[in-house]
Amino acid sequence: MGCANTLFRFETDFMTIEPIRAFSDNYIWLITSADRAAVVDPGDPAPVFDLLETRGLTLDTIIITHHHFDHTGGVASLKAATGCRVIGPNNPGIGDIDEVMTEGNEVTVLGYQFAVLEVPGHTLDHIAYYNEAHATLFCGDTLFVGGCGRVFEGTFPMMQGSLEKLSTLPDVTKVFCTHEYTMANLNFALKADPSNVALKAFFTECSLKRSEDLPTVPSTIGHERMINPFLRWDSPAIIDQLKREGRHEGSLAAEVFGAVRSWKDQG
Ligand SMILES: [Zn+2]
Repeated sequence: MGCANTLFRFETDFMTIEPIRAFSDNYIWLITSADRAAVVDPGDPAPVFDLLETRGLTLDTIIITHHHFDHTGGVASLKAATGCRVIGPNNPGIGDIDEVMTEGNEVTVLGYQFAVLEVPGHTLDHIAYYNEAHATLFCGDTLFVGGCGRVFEGTFPMMQGSLEKLSTLPDVTKVFCTHEYTMANLNFALKADPSNVALKAFFTECSLKRSEDLPTVPSTIGHERMINPFLRWDSPAIIDQLKREGRHEGSLAAEVFGAVRSWKDQG
């Protein structure tokens, strides 16, 4: 895993973002500015410690999106070893958070300003971080490339509202989610939206990337609106497909979303 961690670099104007691979399919996002670093959702501290040492980086800030262990498991040891600050949602259960973030907060990390968006559904505490100047979104397990997080703690209408909030960000916004779930998501998307030409082309593109072990993340909000069935509650094609499959009749956004999510959950 470690050797593959410096192969990719996304420069969004002058914000440099790289994936650190963790577990089987997590991305811990690394933001750097000169020799200072921030990481998003460090579930596993080991690859982060390795990278800091190899690159001579000082950890400045840990950014947390929600309480799941594969996003927070590295916080305590990284903070103890580096004295970095930790920002995250209003959930005392996480521990070690220095600055609690809620809707509408603005927070500066390595000189970059992020707006905090509350996006409950996957968990109730889930937040996202959006930097407008560099069109960059860290959305944890809320929106995935071609999919969305499972609705563990919230309700379908709540999750649909959260995804709608993200889908109204500018089209150019880069979506840095936390898992490489793209191929499984696109396989399902083709069932829900089989006539979507952009989706079929994207499936081919992502298959090639994955065959070379390249990340498919980030995507963009504009692209997700075209291909992601969990953002396309207003698509006549998806509404028709739900009807054809005997899953749902009607076009209310939260219900269409819920029907698509239930379908995926049933595999
Ligand atoms: Zn999660």
